Amino acid sequence: METMNSLDVISSLCKRRGFIFHSSEVYGGINGFWDYGPMGCEMKRNIKEDWWRFTVRNREDVAGLDATIIMHPAIWKASGHLDTFSDPMCTCRACKKLMRADQVWDILTEGPIGQSLQALLAEGADIGKLAAWCKGKGQGLAPNLAAVQNADALTAAVEALKAAPEKYATVQSLYTLFAQLADSSPCPYCGGELTEPRPFNLMFKTIVGPVEDPANVAYLRPETAQAIFAQFLNVLATSRQTVPFGIAQMGKSFRNEVTPRNYTFRSREFEQMELEYFIRPDEAVELMFGRVTTMADNPDLSTPQDAWGWEVWHKYWVEQRKAWIQACGLPASSFEEYWQKPDELAHYARACVDILYAFPFGTQELEGIAARSDFDLSQHQKHSGKSMEVFDEALKLAAAKLDDAAKAAFTEKVAADWAAHGKDADAARAFVAKLFEGRFVPHVIEPSAGVDRMMLALLCNAYEEQKLTDEKGKDDSRVVMHFSPRIAPVKVAVFPLVKNKPEVYNKAREVFEHLRRRYAAFWDEGGAIGRRYRRQDEIGTPWCVTVDFQTLDDGTFTVRDRDTMQQERMTLEQLKAKIEDALI
Ligand code: ATP
Repeated sequence: METMNSLDVISSLCKRRGFIFHSSEVYGGINGFWDYGPMGCEMKRNIKEDWWRFTVRNREDVAGLDATIIMHPAIWKASGHLDTFSDPMCTCRACKKLMRADQVWDILTEGPIGQSLQALLAEGADIGKLAAWCKGKGQGLAPNLAAVQNADALTAAVEALKAAPEKYATVQSLYTLFAQLADSSPCPYCGGELTEPRPFNLMFKTIVGPVEDPANVAYLRPETAQAIFAQFLNVLATSRQTVPFGIAQMGKSFRNEVTPRNYTFRSREFEQMELEYFIRPDEAVELMFGRVTTMADNPDLSTPQDAWGWEVWHKYWVEQRKAWIQACGLPASSFEEYWQKPDELAHYARACVDILYAFPFGTQELEGIAARSDFDLSQHQKHSGKSMEVFDEALKLAAAKLDDAAKAAFTEKVAADWAAHGKDADAARAFVAKLFEGRFVPHVIEPSAGVDRMMLALLCNAYEEQKLTDEKGKDDSRVVMHFSPRIAPVKVAVFPLVKNKPEVYNKAREVFEHLRRRYAAFWDEGGAIGRRYRRQDEIGTPWCVTVDFQTLDDGTFTVRDRDTMQQERMTLEQLKAKIEDALI
């Protein structure tokens, strides 16, 4: 058994079998945009439906939303995207290429220059060989590198190498030496000098209406989450939910990524599945229940409890998300939790966990789960002038049981706590006064996932190239996608054993018509049965049904299992029970 899931192998299968195509391919494609073909769109739909079922339908405390992509631009001012949603970007002064400043070294290592220098270093090349690279291969690969362009720079580099060869044992240090640049990095594409990094806003701009006036500028949303905050009051008023509860939304997002790469991993148009789960501030929980459960209490995370503080809710959602990822078919060993360090957190965030998946190009973010305090709703309250407070009857009743002395003590405790965390004590007192009235701006936990990244991870995980021996003892092989039945684009394929016997053919059509009304089913009557199996293996169809002469007698047909390749005779009812069982 051999697994060869490099990105090239995956992308070629995806093209061949209709999962993913480059957008606008007939015109040479457009960078950072991808289309999902017949198999891809079924699979993507399955991922989204599964997420929706898990996050919304199977719960009583989450409501859905489907908001527009273009919204009032004030939303992006309030959320901070207009001012801060940017990547530092550099331009090469020589070749004019643009790139993200934090990706310069990755681009170098992954590209032809890095590969060529790495090969030299790996063979232990001496100074002569390194200098020869500058006069030979380097001319084509990195023409704007100082040591490639002029003899003086090459001499200076050779002198430095002679003096301290151990300092230049990595691609990065060697390349920097050849560039002979004092304070900037060399361009990873040509060796030229890069400009200082400048912020580049990632939002796509557009104009609403016919007049191209700055007043009519709007943006394609860079995330789905903000619409949830902007519609918080409407959903609250119409969904009969009370805090704690969530609002979920999925849909397209757009980011003008400076360097889209790694296939669909970093695209400019992609889909997100986001949940904003609104909770009481810890101080409200303490007032109501006399205590706040934290992770130090080692709580059972299976069922939410009234006294949970934000920390437990956050961990609860990390566990929920991991459970869903596993249910979709990614084994626990293939992904990990990364807890952002305090200096990596956004200023308002209390904790953020990235779920990282071991992609063929490195271990990278699949999704994130952030505890965002009351930042978002408070920002929209400030910018819109509309109160985002909720009224919590149970909180008001709990507060009413306290006498004045207890209220004063509670107020001062919270004020001292806020002050200890660098926050304003008077603001704390005003906040507690509102709590006594049963009012607060909810805090939020945000699990935010990318549909395309999940799909890429599932494709990488599912791919297997198997070496087999056929019935005659000859070597054989097959490519098989081990998708979980819930995610597989086709659940069942139906074949007539022979095409030219109307009884068998019609019976097979009957079975197919019955199945396809219930599940994504595929009809294939072309070629030997073995070849038909192989075609289904490549798109990950869990079961293949072959209708034969015996079907006419006793109603049973063979059902071939994709993973074990074993065949079993069963009736239509038995097959349906098997499929149902796997899809639940
Ligand atoms: P990254 O650090 O990889 O740019 P991010 O931290 O900016 O991601 P978030 O803003 O937290 O990402 O977005 C939530 C999720 O949306 C990500 O975990 C990812 O699954 C998905 N996502 C974000 N940007 C892209 C993109 N350019 N292409 C595909 N999916 C994306």
